[in-house]
Amino acid sequence: MDIFKVFTIEAAHRLPHVPEGHKCGRLHGHSFRVEIHVAGEPDPHTGWIMDFADIKAAFAPLYAQLDHHYLNEVEGLENPTSERLAMWIWERLKPALPQLSEVAVHETCTSGCRYRG
Ligand SMILES: [Zn+2]
Repeated sequence: MDIFKVFTIEAAHRLPHVPEGHKCGRLHGHSFRVEIHVAGEPDPHTGWIMDFADIKAAFAPLYAQLDHHYLNEVEGLENPTSERLAMWIWERLKPALPQLSEVAVHETCTSGCRYRG
């Protein structure tokens, strides 16, 4: 079983390695929807895998680095595709949240990626 918590990150980016004239090469913004998934067995007594508040607390320092920022200026996100953003979050969140099982990044309502390490 896994549980997840959803965060919305407002941020600007541009993709530096797209072909000349590609729309993603221009500065623009997204309301990124980020899902943080945690896998495990529900505790027999509490009935939950973990407190959703603990997921929020673990993600908070990363959220602060991303929300309302220009992602290209964040160290490690010089080419901030959804794929790179999912990996960036995973690598920094996994030590604080060992049960992390998936990071999903929705760039728009119809486009996104899922990373499972
Ligand atoms: Zn974009």
